[in-house]
Amino acid sequence: MSVPRPQHAPLAQFEVEGDCLQIGGMPLTRLAERVGRTPFYAYDRAKLTERVELLRRHLPPEIHLHYAMKANPMPAVVQHMATLVDGIDIASGGEQRVALDTPMAPHLVSFAGPGKSDTDLSCAIAAGVVLNMESEAEMERIAVIGRRLSIKPRVAVRVNPDFELKSSGMKMGGGPKQFGVDAERVPAMLERIRALELDFQGFHIYSGSQNLKAASIQDAHEKTFALAIRLAAHWPGPLRTLNIGGGFGIPYFPGEERLDLAAVGENLKRILPDVRRDLPDTEIVIELGRYLVAEAGIYVSRVIERKESRGQVYLVTDGGLHHHLAASGNFGQVIRKNYPVAIGNRMNADERETVSVVGPLCTPLDLLADQMSLAKAEVGDLVVVFQSGAYGLSASPVAFLSHPVALEVLV
Ligand SMILES: *Cc1c(COP(=O)(O)O)cnc(C)c1O
Repeated sequence: MSVPRPQHAPLAQFEVEGDCLQIGGMPLTRLAERVGRTPFYAYDRAKLTERVELLRRHLPPEIHLHYAMKANPMPAVVQHMATLVDGIDIASGGEQRVALDTPMAPHLVSFAGPGKSDTDLSCAIAAGVVLNMESEAEMERIAVIGRRLSIKPRVAVRVNPDFELKSSGMKMGGGPKQFGVDAERVPAMLERIRALELDFQGFHIYSGSQNLKAASIQDAHEKTFALAIRLAAHWPGPLRTLNIGGGFGIPYFPGEERLDLAAVGENLKRILPDVRRDLPDTEIVIELGRYLVAEAGIYVSRVIERKESRGQVYLVTDGGLHHHLAASGNFGQVIRKNYPVAIGNRMNADERETVSVVGPLCTPLDLLADQMSLAKAEVGDLVVVFQSGAYGLSASPVAFLSHPVALEVLV
């Protein structure tokens, strides 16, 4: 017996005309013809722009918005984002090459992440990128490379806070962590930064990711400012920048409610005047990945076969876990839940059935939808996975089983 799974709230972000999903101002079926083959990812340029506008409407105007490009490093997407945001956050030498290819000025690019190689550090220092230092050892290497290059490296200290971001999908601060320098060790590090004559910019305090609770984010903001002010007292000059992290989540699964962005913005407006007493001229940065790009992207595969096994219908598609690990549930989910999925060329069909959508890989993990109620699909139909603009292709094991890599288009 098949047990139907909980359903998603209707997804309002893409329009439908007739039976067909619209993206980038055209029907999905036409886009599929243009792309020429499935599977592919499509990212909607207008939706990216709208999302930044939404943030600008709700956040105080003095907040600088950075794009954490690991969420979606497709060069065309990063180029587009570079025209909209105030900075780009990178986490590798490869991302740095893409970021520096955009019009974004290097001092507005910041590089976080443990285990930066000497090559990564040299390239970043030479380019004038801000290095978010993850440890004292990294600081010492940066100083050596800076002296060798006769450049004063731009640095910030990534702080491992002494609190956690509550109800966050992924905690990246608090307790022992491989990220950042434990808050209590920062004063000594600041002494050393002075001795090494590094060009100190400020602090980067990132506590977590995928948070849908405004109250938790507000709480983290308050604690982050308090911590930054406490640490800033150990530096003789003003802080140039303070990156207060991001962590704004998006709804993926049934029952999840949208983050109340207005509440987060209101709270910032309420607390900033106080913060300004201690940090009058500090540039305050919020860095976001998925919140900016996830909802603008879809993953599209084609039904190769309809198959029945002991009363259950399987739609076997040409796409799967090798392109979209997150939708298969294997990108850090504890209990597998369905991403929102639809048959993109039958959006208004009356006839529905409960099916599982699977991919071509020889593992039961290759599951894009587990017993979902979808429009009754035929061979050749287009299966759409929504909320796929972040942590999609670049976060998937594309070499696994040697199928062709999915295409990506910005429309
Ligand atoms: C991954 C990461 C982000 C982006 O996280 P999202 O959940 O996509 O917003 C931002 N900052 C840092 C330091 C990260 O490691």
